[in-house]
Amino acid sequence: MAVSDLPMPSVGPVSRLAPKPMRFVLNWGRRYSLWVFNFGLACCAIEFIATSMSRHDFIRFGVIPFANGPRQADLMIVSGTVTDKMAPAVRRLYEQMPDPKYVISFGACSNSGGPYWDSYCVTKGVDQIIPVDVYVPGCPPRPEALLHGIMKLQEKIAGESLADRYAAPAIEGEES
Ligand code: SF4
Repeated sequence: MAVSDLPMPSVGPVSRLAPKPMRFVLNWGRRYSLWVFNFGLACCAIEFIATSMSRHDFIRFGVIPFANGPRQADLMIVSGTVTDKMAPAVRRLYEQMPDPKYVISFGACSNSGGPYWDSYCVTKGVDQIIPVDVYVPGCPPRPEALLHGIMKLQEKIAGESLADRYAAPAIEGEES
């Protein structure tokens, strides 16, 4: 049997059954163990690398560089200019990430096309092809901006319900 024929593991429905303290612990664990996959496409990728180095050191926030690939990653950071030719590859690697997965769009190019918004070959925002959790503005954003974006994502994870995130059908009598 080919790997692609195997059923995909799902998350969400059972999390509704977990008591609130358990959900807090699970969210706490996800929040501070984000294996990151850097989809570096242009100059903003340099700022990502700077953020991972000792001066800014995003490991202290629980962000772990660098996942071996999308299958080992919880977080994809898209940094740089997404071209229409590259867009299918971004989408494909996103789909290879296991749930729950998160995306930070880092920089003006990834957010909206940036200085190349009117180019014939640039995708006008990576959110046209994959869902984005946090947008970090700037051209390029400074490493401090990425740290802020990571903290915003962690706040979001802390308060989220995986059942709601993945639009699982509601289980009667259970609170979300
Ligand atoms: S937003 Fe600016 S710095 Fe970042 S990839 Fe685009 S042009 Fe380069």
